[in-house]
Amino acid sequence: MDRVVIVGGGVLGTMHAVLARSRGLDVIHLEREAGPRGASVRNFGLVWVSGRAPGPELALAQRARTLWEELGELVPAAGFRPHGSLTLASDEAELGLLKEAASMPDAAERGFELLDPAAAAEANPALRGEFAGALMCRRDAIVEPRLVPGAFRDYLVATAGRGDASYEWLPGREAVELAPYTVRDHTGSWHRGDLVVLCTGAAYTGIAGPHLAGYERPPVRRVRLQMLQTEPFTTQLTTAVADGDSLRYYPAFDLPGRAMLAPQLPVAAAAAAQLLLVQRLDGSLTIGDTHSYDEPFDFDLDELPYDHLRARAEQLLGAPLPATRRRWAGVYSQVTGSELYHRSQVAPGVILVTGPGGRGMTCSPAIAEETFAA
Ligand SMILES: Cc1cc2nc3c(=O)[nH]c(=O)nc-3n(C[C@H](O)[C@H](O)[C@H](O)COP(=O)(O)OP(=O)(O)OC[C@H]3O[C@@H](n4cnc5c(N)ncnc54)[C@H](O)[C@@H]3O)c2cc1C
Repeated sequence: MDRVVIVGGGVLGTMHAVLARSRGLDVIHLEREAGPRGASVRNFGLVWVSGRAPGPELALAQRARTLWEELGELVPAAGFRPHGSLTLASDEAELGLLKEAASMPDAAERGFELLDPAAAAEANPALRGEFAGALMCRRDAIVEPRLVPGAFRDYLVATAGRGDASYEWLPGREAVELAPYTVRDHTGSWHRGDLVVLCTGAAYTGIAGPHLAGYERPPVRRVRLQMLQTEPFTTQLTTAVADGDSLRYYPAFDLPGRAMLAPQLPVAAAAAAQLLLVQRLDGSLTIGDTHSYDEPFDFDLDELPYDHLRARAEQLLGAPLPATRRRWAGVYSQVTGSELYHRSQVAPGVILVTGPGGRGMTCSPAIAEETFAA
């Protein structure tokens, strides 16, 4: 194989470009927008190992975590930092579940450690609020989602031509037609490779559409999340933070103690909300999230879950949050079956890779690696 054509400038397409180039392949990279505007730049930037189900999902996330660390050294502008996370219990039932998680057979591999409130506050001095205990996950990490695609493209451009491999970034080109080993963009240009990889995210019409339709049960669905970002918080957070509601959603915590958890607050349950909180490099806080599964999705943002998430963050930090700087919603593509993501051959020499769901930022380098190992 000498040349790869990649469609989609999100993190999956970008990681395919990076992994292809590391194998000495020429890359042509198309993106329909001027730059990526989808899930990849709207997420938390959490490289999240803690919540993954034991077995293949954890293995994929762990491989990706290792790759992220290597890639973070190669491209410091992506903002990789191995800061770990703290999941905070707000009552005895949540604490009981954290204890169970800390004694799972793969707990050491995840870097799990149960901390009492004083130890948690020592690990992350910004946590001055009320909580019953915490689970540290040392394998969790953070990257800067708004910077990642551009940082890696800059790296690819800067290193293109070393050896023979080239990198051509073609923004503002929408792929509209497929043929074996070839894709045509909306300007009429055909791009041919030994492999074409479609990383078109949650775009279920257009070029990927016919290949996702016609199944008895669609292989992927879309999920909409609401997020916000504050102005800079003056105290430095040394870890990412999750609240006990996250224990209700992440598969790693599907343990007997989950049945003992109290129902979520109605406002959180209505929005399928959990608090995840990440400090950005400029000190601001990314806070989320909610989950909507039924389409058509709202086109506007619902204020109630934001009030809840801000209040929960203030409760755990024991301090008022800075003003909200921006709010947005994002949509990701998620497989509906038990596989970790969707991969299918849609024409000779053309594959579609989508559907990693809420683990897509985390797993993208390992998914791209699997494409070229196949
Ligand atoms: C709010 C939110 C928070 C999240 N938080 C996390 C997190 O912290 N950690 C984590 O691991 N995951 C997280 N995720 C999931 C993760 O962001 C996604 O799984 C991942 O970004 C998917 O990447 P992608 O490249 O497949 O899709 P996208 O980012 O959607 O990129 C697809 C790209 O393809 C382009 N495209 C589509 N069709 C065409 C075409 N025909 N021609 C050319 N270009 C085309 C689009 O314009 C787009 O830029 C989150 C998602 C959301 C929405």
